[in-house]
Amino acid sequence: MNEKIAWQGTLVSVQPRIRLTRSFDQRNHSYLGYALRVQGIIGEDEREFTVGIGKAARLRHQFRAGDIVSGMAQPVADERTESVELYKASRLKVVERAADVVTVPPPWLGLPPELPVYRQRGHRRLDARTYQAKCLGCIWGCRMPVEMIIDQWNPSQKRYRFETFCYGPKSCSLYRAGPTRKVPGRKGMSWEEENWVDEDATAHRGEDE
Ligand code: SF4
Repeated sequence: MNEKIAWQGTLVSVQPRIRLTRSFDQRNHSYLGYALRVQGIIGEDEREFTVGIGKAARLRHQFRAGDIVSGMAQPVADERTESVELYKASRLKVVERAADVVTVPPPWLGLPPELPVYRQRGHRRLDARTYQAKCLGCIWGCRMPVEMIIDQWNPSQKRYRFETFCYGPKSCSLYRAGPTRKVPGRKGMSWEEENWVDEDATAHRGEDE
């Protein structure tokens, strides 16, 4: 498991790699770096796969969709806490830079912003099926591993799942919120994250920002 695997392929997307910790109505984000979605060859297989990189690697290589990239990376130790298959990437290289093609969003392609920009923008929940069908290539989409602390007095009691979010303009025509999310708590209680949470998190942005 600790052995690194060689990979190469075309970048389908570069999205933020952010972990969410929930404890009933409280939430906390850990900004880990970026997730590269690659269509190409990993070890002996040809398929789509994901690789986690840090923010320094993103600054150095300026990865964006369409680039042909290569590197080495290790399978993640705990698939519940990572949205990517591989991490601890090394020997990263842009084999061929994508041509400068102007595309009309949505989705938003190109260079993703630095992580503090995502933090400052805030997110809204994004329907998992919409994310899968429309948002995989967008720099504003994010699939987060979620660690839920069920009982704050007994933090070792945890559950895990994945949730999808949108950091993009509120006017995006592809956006679908999907059902509200419920967070389990102690003694069978649960907390529902209603629409006002998203409205509050993004209230400082205009519709097209
Ligand atoms: S809904 Fe969000 S993630 Fe999806 S295309 Fe629109 S801005 Fe991008």
